[in-house]
Amino acid sequence: MARALIVGGGIAGDTLALFLERDGWEVTVAEIAPAPRAGGQTVDLRGDCREVLRHAGLLDQARECLVPQRGAAWITDGGRRLAEMPVEAFDGQGLVSDEELLRTDLARILHEAAGSGVRHRFGETVEALDDAGDRVLARFRSGASEEFDLVVGADGAHSRVRALRFGPEENYRRPLGLAHAWFTLAEQPDTPKVDGWFLLYNVPGRRGLEARPGHPGHQEVGLTFAADELPPRHDREAQFALLDRTFADVGWRAAEFLAAARHAPDFALDTFDQVHVPCWHNGRVVLLGDSAWCASPLSGLGTALALRGAAELAAALRTADAGTDPGTVPTALAAFETTMRPRATQAQQLPPGRVAAMAPRTALGIRFNAWVMRTVQSPLLRPLMKRAFAATGHAPDPTETTATQKNSTGG
Ligand SMILES: Cc1cc2nc3c(=O)[nH]c(=O)nc-3n(C[C@H](O)[C@H](O)[C@H](O)COP(=O)(O)OP(=O)(O)OC[C@H]3O[C@@H](n4cnc5c(N)ncnc54)[C@H](O)[C@@H]3O)c2cc1C
Repeated sequence: MARALIVGGGIAGDTLALFLERDGWEVTVAEIAPAPRAGGQTVDLRGDCREVLRHAGLLDQARECLVPQRGAAWITDGGRRLAEMPVEAFDGQGLVSDEELLRTDLARILHEAAGSGVRHRFGETVEALDDAGDRVLARFRSGASEEFDLVVGADGAHSRVRALRFGPEENYRRPLGLAHAWFTLAEQPDTPKVDGWFLLYNVPGRRGLEARPGHPGHQEVGLTFAADELPPRHDREAQFALLDRTFADVGWRAAEFLAAARHAPDFALDTFDQVHVPCWHNGRVVLLGDSAWCASPLSGLGTALALRGAAELAAALRTADAGTDPGTVPTALAAFETTMRPRATQAQQLPPGRVAAMAPRTALGIRFNAWVMRTVQSPLLRPLMKRAFAATGHAPDPTETTATQKNSTGG
């Protein structure tokens, strides 16, 4: 039986584990976190997400977790609406959809779907990968060593597999000039309600606060600001000090968010980066998801691409019959890249002004952004915008044959 090691049990890693197991592979997932990782904001179930989850037989479960959404609204310090974009705008194909679930729930559904052919090793990662041509010897942090026919780096934008086999992060990382902190806020009796709205509050100096619906009694909170570099990931105090300095004078719910961030179990802070790797495969090692092509959260497509990439990689391995003839793995990896790269490249092309609109520099820029959000909903521009949103990949292209339609063995 062919053996695969997937490093990173996130969206891409756990989806691939599911498909490979169904194709008869023996799968090990090495996840650095001590348990399945919760956290993250909402994931759009349109387009690729829906198609791949349907193929995996998990769409109904995902639908049961939908978070009620009413739309996006850009607000002032006092909560006055500068612009609104309800979910009904653009016939449901706009910025926020009524088909969104929390990343936490999607990750849990994928993780729980794994059968007995998938072995998760939590608190584990790789220290070395030695590609011997017909197999890869992986040395783990725990000290164990094992051989695999295939190693997949699904370990996110700061991938260790990429560092070990493809070179240092600085070769591939393209910062977009913004950073983002996010966490789940447990509502208190005096917490202002969001009532299903994704609220965005911007202040001059490229800073913004966001609050959106989460599980009942919770809100998903974000703080966006200008930065290319951040304090080290393990230095939480330095991270909170940076947020305190950046948002001290900001108003709206800044003080509440800064206090809550310190107690949130899923607090995370990272830069908005893209990852550009010229070739994703090297012998029997391949990158998948954010480690290969992170398009940044600003694309809104990170999870859709991770799911799609996992389905395409599984399909390429299936087509090459790599599960029974592991000698074909390198050929399958090349075929996967040929299929997947155009999609990833397209997703990385952010619409003009996307970064500036997320965090305008000036008060005028903030007002202009709100005007744009109102104007694009005018009857004249609506059809044009509908087509533009569809082209971002949220809506499935009915003319395309994808991994979920060819050579399918999935549920
Ligand atoms: C907890 C969390 C919250 C997130 N929240 C958001 C969000 O709110 N908005 C958004 O746009 N994107 C968010 N993301 C990123 C989003 O999930 C990805 O952009 C997208 O789903 C692509 O999936 P991926 O599997 O490539 O990466 P990820 O989903 O990031 O998964 C990578 C996995 O690899 C693990 N890992 C990292 N390093 C190692 C290592 N050295 N060894 C072993 N395992 C390792 C991580 O713990 C993680 O489980 C979040 C990611 C995580 C992990």
